[in-house]
Amino acid sequence: MSKWLMQAGTIVLALFHVIAHANDKPLVYWVYVNEQKPNLIDIKVDTSKLGIFSLEQSRSLKKAESQSEASITCYKPGGKTSVKINFNQQISCQSITWHTELTVLSDFDYNASSQQSIYSPSGWWLLFEWDNFHRLKGIENAKVCIANNKPKSKKEKNIALCSPLPQSDQPPLLLAWGKPSTRINVENLKLTIYADNELLIHEIKTIKESLQKQYSYLQTVFSQPEHMNQVRDWSLIWVGIDKKHKSLGGAAGSEAYISNYLVDKKQLTKQSIPMLLKVSAHETVHSITEYPFPLWISESLAEYYAYKSMQFISYSVNDPLTEWKQKRNVIPHAKTGLYEANLKVSEQHDMSYYPLFYVKGAAFWQALDKALQDKQKTLDTFIPLLSTETTQHKLNNAFIRQVEGIIGSQHWQTLAKDYF
Ligand SMILES: [Zn+2]
Repeated sequence: MSKWLMQAGTIVLALFHVIAHANDKPLVYWVYVNEQKPNLIDIKVDTSKLGIFSLEQSRSLKKAESQSEASITCYKPGGKTSVKINFNQQISCQSITWHTELTVLSDFDYNASSQQSIYSPSGWWLLFEWDNFHRLKGIENAKVCIANNKPKSKKEKNIALCSPLPQSDQPPLLLAWGKPSTRINVENLKLTIYADNELLIHEIKTIKESLQKQYSYLQTVFSQPEHMNQVRDWSLIWVGIDKKHKSLGGAAGSEAYISNYLVDKKQLTKQSIPMLLKVSAHETVHSITEYPFPLWISESLAEYYAYKSMQFISYSVNDPLTEWKQKRNVIPHAKTGLYEANLKVSEQHDMSYYPLFYVKGAAFWQALDKALQDKQKTLDTFIPLLSTETTQHKLNNAFIRQVEGIIGSQHWQTLAKDYF
């Protein structure tokens, strides 16, 4: 569920890169699945109209030093001669191509928060942008199309599945194909749902109603008023995970998010739908929130509000304070305060502190919200005060002053001592 992080510096740089191509036809990255080995894909870009260009390495979740150099071939006019090219090298080519190898993973073994690109031998693919799509410097208008997304029946048209390549300051590209998809429209929310198998089909009606109710509530909390009626066209990807893995996650992409749902011996369990709806709501918060938050706030709020959004539907999950009570003796670093955990993750890249955001962080918000509700207030109205434009990782003084004024200084001090 790790939220993709926006770097203010990147936005500024990206703006300077927007050049003449903005109104041109998009550059197309064609993705070809290898017929013999379906976990291998070739990515090909027609660069014949570009003149001289240079390539930048794809965005990656790995640290720079652990990224491997890609082998990229530049085809010269006529297509008969080719040369290998490097990143940031000025070159002119008829087309360029490179390969990528997807991890082969059996069904029900994939944790969506890994953000890995995979191929499942049951016949579907999941492609994240990370490490796969090198960028042509200065070109912002580009899309990714799956070339051999073969129709399963004659009824389905053989239309290439395409998705815009997000800008470098946006969440990553996330595409799934190989299984039939379902479209659902609920007011201003248009969803294309891809599921890895048919288990969820019978539940689609109740899922749809629940998603709509949760979304309606979450947008009142996390969208700015002028964007409240904005039409959202999202892809939702649902991938089952066996309960033996003892984990379940999700990730937000650009106009898309992925959520795991729980299965036991290839069947849904009582918890499958409520947990899917909770993870979906968590990713919805990431997708719609317009406020920049420090990492711990981003994750813990998404988790708390995922839980809170379930008060509007007929499914329930454990509340965060109960979860915290159950896990505080087993979760690593439980005694570490949330500010320090944020520093450990964001500065030292120690991901073992990350789970604290979901459990201890969500419990903090619930405890605070309870205290506010006792005074006939709600945390919902204070969310905009949490936004921060700087690298500041602590709660804003303006926010603290406001809530302290309502719940009382002593109560605030107790919360601060318990959680920070
Ligand atoms: Zn998250």
